[in-house]
Amino acid sequence: MIVMKFGGSSLANPEKIHRCIEIVRREIARTPVVVVSAHGRTTDSLISAARKAHEGRVDMEEIERYHFELADSLGVDRRMIEPLVFKLQSMLHGISLLKELTPRTLDHVMSFGERMSALMVAATMSSEGMPAVAHCAYDIGLLTDSNFGQANPLADIEAEISRRLNPAGLLPVVTGFIAKDRRDNITTLGRNGSNFTASVIGAALGAEEVQIWTDVDGIMTADPSIEPGAKNLPTAPRSCIPAP
Ligand code: ASP
Ligand code: MG
Repeated sequence: MIVMKFGGSSLANPEKIHRCIEIVRREIARTPVVVVSAHGRTTDSLISAARKAHEGRVDMEEIERYHFELADSLGVDRRMIEPLVFKLQSMLHGISLLKELTPRTLDHVMSFGERMSALMVAATMSSEGMPAVAHCAYDIGLLTDSNFGQANPLADIEAEISRRLNPAGLLPVVTGFIAKDRRDNITTLGRNGSNFTASVIGAALGAEEVQIWTDVDGIMTADPSIEPGAKNLPTAPRSCIPAP
């Protein structure tokens, strides 16, 4: 059993999503559990939509259009994500009316990205001959403390995760980044937290391997989201490889 995590930029458009699905297909004999981030820069868009709502402006047109167009070009039913789109809209209206944006509410707003992504990836896999099912990580036992924005998984959750998640059935596609606290509030594990989700699930299931996929071959000289001049090195320079 292995865990395969795909980040937002690897899932940013239909071609890239298909590439990820083919990578999973190659590993199907190893019973993969897939962990996904939100598509592209959705988390950033959700944060700015929440901030705008806090200032009194509800605008989620771009998020909505991006996801509906993705669904259409993947050939999956856009109605699948409609309930989430409507809930997000109501939540943004709530924020704009109350003029209040707590860390707890922001985590809830951010959660829609991973929830839409898991649904769409699982539906695309299913329509392409790899029957899959989307899971919210909290429904398979990923519980955290209430440190919104940077929550920590609780110590005793591994047995519950391994009881609830069955990699031998339909291929599980699990939301990265998001979880819940014991009071049923949605929490997040910190930016780029999907890698952490993959590790927690891997540890809980005693996975043979946790694979973290990005869409860069080799390694970058710096984090490209911070340093625009970052370059791609196709192989690690000798000085980075520890001596035997
Ligand atoms: N979507 C979240 C983020 O952009 C989590 C992740 O990508 O791992 O931070
Ligand atoms: Mg990411």
